[in-house]
Amino acid sequence: MSLHRARRALIAVTAAAALSALPAAAADTVLNLYSARHYQTDEALYSDFTKRTGIRINRIEAGDEALLERLRSEGANTPADVLLLVDATRLWRAQIDGMFQPVRSQALEARIPAHLRGKDDGKGAEWFAFSTRARVIVYNKATVKPDQVPSYEDLAAPAFKGKVCTRSGTHPYMLSLIGAMSEHLGEAKAEAWARGVVANFARSPRGGDTDQIKAVATGECGVALTNTYYLVRMMRSDAAADKDAVSKIGMIWPNQQTWGTHVNVSGGGVMRNAPNRAAAVKFLEYLASDSAQAYLADGNNEWPVVATAPTSNPVLASLGKFKADTLPIASVGRAQVTAAKIIDRVGWR
Ligand code: FE
Repeated sequence: MSLHRARRALIAVTAAAALSALPAAAADTVLNLYSARHYQTDEALYSDFTKRTGIRINRIEAGDEALLERLRSEGANTPADVLLLVDATRLWRAQIDGMFQPVRSQALEARIPAHLRGKDDGKGAEWFAFSTRARVIVYNKATVKPDQVPSYEDLAAPAFKGKVCTRSGTHPYMLSLIGAMSEHLGEAKAEAWARGVVANFARSPRGGDTDQIKAVATGECGVALTNTYYLVRMMRSDAAADKDAVSKIGMIWPNQQTWGTHVNVSGGGVMRNAPNRAAAVKFLEYLASDSAQAYLADGNNEWPVVATAPTSNPVLASLGKFKADTLPIASVGRAQVTAAKIIDRVGWR
């Protein structure tokens, strides 16, 4: 070794020693987290991760579409390590855009059921669900009897002419449901069903899920679709208007006699070019831990994906148990392509 090279090696060793002498949090990684989740309770989740691992989290929060837009413009140079999104349609879209890399992790595979992992072709999954929500039917107790509408298919029945309200078919929550219908019924039957639902509209689609619940409560709509956490949020509300609305409506778990109620997810994966891959995997494993599962689920009135994770959300628990559709979440995401064609053809706008 030349003197020059020896000196360079010594400098490198000294620098490494100096680095390892720093406290873990300062010397260690910062995890760049791009998240479409925006719940106050997530704060505690992130600080708990930092406490356990010494890895700090630099969080970029925005709506799902805005985040995906930002990632597309940052391209391969994005500093993002982990991306968290809501709904299988968006997770699948991010996967198709090549944003994720496969992750092989015993912890994730042991705790997250296979049908709640996205694109797993033997090298590990590209994304994982961390919480679930169901898409249920709410009805006006004065105008609709629950046994009239035990399934999504019934929303197309002639009896509901002028009574059905939904948000736009272009929204991911609707694309996922319509896509799942097409997976179960086949494209032609799903399209006939969708045409029947559109023919039953009480008004043209508008607003979000909470708006549908409120319109059912006022009687403008007889039946509507909503994700469960919007309903539970309203059930937990102290506002007089919400209490009044909740008193006027009932909820149905659709398709209990057939394939089960449509379930969707929030989830995430490790970015293809993650600068801090090891930290990113650690973070996903943390999200599957009991305490993180409880934060994720209770914070937004969702269910944990880890069956044994304890939760404490009495109002959510009061909805009771139900048969959930076990269609692989990846195929729900993929089915949006068919769903988009269907909504175009039937005018579910
Ligand atoms: Fe939502």
